[in-house]
Formats: sequence, C-alpha cells, structure tokens
Amino acid sequence: MTIPNMITIDGPAASGKSTLGKNLADWLDYLYFDTGVMYRAVTWAALHAGISMDDEAAVSALSETIDIDVLPPTQDDGRAYDVLADGQDITWDIRRAEVDGGVSVVAAYPGVRKALTAQQRRIGLRGKVVMVGRDIGTVVLPEADLKIYLEASVAERARRRFNEIKNRGGQASMDAIRENLMERDRIDSTRDVAPLCAAPDAIILDSDQMDANRVLEAAKKLVKKHQE
Ligand code: C5P
Repeated sequence: MTIPNMITIDGPAASGKSTLGKNLADWLDYLYFDTGVMYRAVTWAALHAGISMDDEAAVSALSETIDIDVLPPTQDDGRAYDVLADGQDITWDIRRAEVDGGVSVVAAYPGVRKALTAQQRRIGLRGKVVMVGRDIGTVVLPEADLKIYLEASVAERARRRFNEIKNRGGQASMDAIRENLMERDRIDSTRDVAPLCAAPDAIILDSDQMDANRVLEAAKKLVKKHQE
C-alpha cells in the first residue's frame, strides 16, 4: 500500500485533534485543515452582525455568503494559521467563550452544514490533506484511506483546554470549560445531520494517558502500517 493520501481525525471537543492534525500534516508535508474553524467563523459573524443563534434561516443564509479563508500565519503569536472572514482577521476572536457557547447550535443547522461541507469536500478531494473535525470520516471524506477517532476523558480535555487558555494569557474557569465541552459534545453527537461519531473503519486512539508526542508517534505508526 501507499502513504494515505487523505487522513481524517474526528473526535469530541478538545481531545487533541488540532495538535495531532497539525503535527501529522507537518511530518507528511500535507495540508492541515481544521474544519471547526469554519463553524466558528460563521458563529462569530452571526454574533458580530447581531443575528440570534436561534434564527436558523438568517444563520444559514449567512453561511452561504460569508467568505472564509484560512491562510499561512502572518503573526508570530502562537497561531497555526490566519482565519479571515470577509477579509477581517478573526483568528483569536473565534476562540472566545461566546463562540464556544453558540457554535454547536449553529453547526447543527442542515443549511450551514450543507454550505460548509461542500467547501471542505472540494478542498479535501485534492488530497495530501489531514482534515480535522466531527464528521470528516463519516460524511465529508468517507473515502479517506486513514481515519482516526481521537478520544479522551472530559476531565483530561477540560484540563488541557484550561491550560491552553491560561498559556495564551486568558481568563478561564475549569467548571465553565467542562460544562461547555459536555454541552457541545451532547449537541454534536445527538444532532440529526452528520452527528459526531466514529466511522466504522476508524481507528480509535484514547489519548488520556498520552502527551502530544506519544499521540503523534501512535498516528505515525498507523501511517507506516498503511504503507506496508
Ligand atoms: O473543533 P472545534 O472545537 O473548533 O469545533 C467547534 C464546533 O464546530 C464543534 O463543537 C462542532 O459543533 C462544530 N464542528 C462540526 N463539524 C466539524 C467540525 C466542527 O460540527 N467537522
């Protein structure tokens, strides 16, 4: 077999998908594509425009017109990429608590998913890509040759997210983070369209007892095994 051309990483919030995706893509010299950024950008734009998260029609219409771009980083402030919405840099704004609070409601709207999934699939089909999200192995790129489903306990995920925010100099409450992670997982895994779940052919990695390096080593092994 050959090196997998399309690699998908799905899993619950803050399970380490982005870190693994970025590291694996760098190692393979592939494109790293974090699809959560797109749902966050639509959520941010709705908040910015004063659109209620409950207004499904308005949020869906917005997702069809907004121009989301993900480009190489232009600032050395810890970002892995620049995120632009209609030309405006929103890289850090999409990580704010208000976006965390609304994004899963927005991501459950079929109209939003239709608009964003089409763009993700078009980019993914070019190949040489590590794509990260909730429904990549099941819906966006079901033909991917290597699918990873990354898990970790809620306690560990909350701890990691807490440290991430602190390291960026932000304020965080462990309880609020834990509640948000659990609520997002609940909405993401119970929605009607493209719910969070492992594809039948996904390999499940539990990262609870592993640091980022060990998770990367485990994923590299899977890539090498695929080549044999
Ligand atoms: O990965 P991240 O936590 O940034 O994703 C934010 C939210 O976007 C998720 O909680 C989920 O509601 C949504 N999402 C999704 N499908 C994806 C990626 C993200 O529904 N492929």
